[in-house]
Amino acid sequence: MKKLLFLFDTDPFVSVFDTVVAYDGGADRVTGYADVTPKTVGPLVDGTIFTRGGKDKQNTAIFVGGGDMAKGEELFEAVKKKFFGPFRVSIMLDSNGSNTTAAAGVALLAKSGKLKGKKAVVLAGTGPVGMRAAALLAQEGAEVTLTSRSKERADNAAKAVEKRFGVKVTPLVAKDDDARGKAVKDANIVFAAGAIGCQLLKKSDWQNNANIEMLADVNAQPPLGIEGIEATDKGKDYDGKLVFGALGIGGLKLKLHRGCIKQLFESSEGVLDAEEIYKLAKDMA
Ligand code: NAP
Repeated sequence: MKKLLFLFDTDPFVSVFDTVVAYDGGADRVTGYADVTPKTVGPLVDGTIFTRGGKDKQNTAIFVGGGDMAKGEELFEAVKKKFFGPFRVSIMLDSNGSNTTAAAGVALLAKSGKLKGKKAVVLAGTGPVGMRAAALLAQEGAEVTLTSRSKERADNAAKAVEKRFGVKVTPLVAKDDDARGKAVKDANIVFAAGAIGCQLLKKSDWQNNANIEMLADVNAQPPLGIEGIEATDKGKDYDGKLVFGALGIGGLKLKLHRGCIKQLFESSEGVLDAEEIYKLAKDMA
């Protein structure tokens, strides 16, 4: 029986990245729907849960993606609400690679050093990846600050993380390089989660900072999020500071993403969100 993966994307176009990884993760056929909302998703879910019975059902699965974390979470909840009794299929949430990227980055940090009790700053932490990274770091017991160029976005992201994960993260406005340099002054861990091609932190602001022990950056396109590192760094030691660049994290991210897709087809009851994906990331790291 063919393994069918349905991508429900909250964006106007279905993610090419998610489509490719879905095939690489073991799907035989990937069908994507764009601009899906909680209002329109009902009949799509019905098509997945009423068509195959018993063990055959595990060959159908749903992946929720798109560039907006809040919309992705709402859609994911709406899909789950449609399930009842045995009428369910495995589902995964990974808006903009949020869960898999943040989980891979934080798992590599957790494997390399202590997170509990450390001061962590997630730079530009208002996007899908940054919000998930902030939540996972806080769940590991770090004291987390999340920065944004806008107070409203920082506050909203911190509130959303607290609502979803029950952990507190501190919102902080940092509009430019100098402000972000100040934001990491007391930090032990820096996680740069800015948009592609955006530099967030100058070399002098981390290399001369004795408090910083570990840094991670998920932006792979030059200029990198953290000046003075290499995208390929994977636990590279810069005078006692361990650094993970976007490609250093990306290897585990892709392995994890593919592993999650494989897992979706192992039962019809899988629910893969941040917690489950992070657990798998720690096993794989
Ligand atoms: P995003 O939503 O596109 O951007 C994150 C935040 O960056 C935004 O919320 C914004 O924060 C800030 N930002 C945007 N333009 C900026 C600028 N010019 N200067 C300073 N800050 C700026 O990012 P995402 O989807 O969460 O992804 C985060 C990063 O992970 C991206 O670089 C993406 O390419 C990367 N990624 C990596 C992998 C991997 O495997 N390595 C996988 C997936 C994604 P404010 O407006 O609040 O300041």
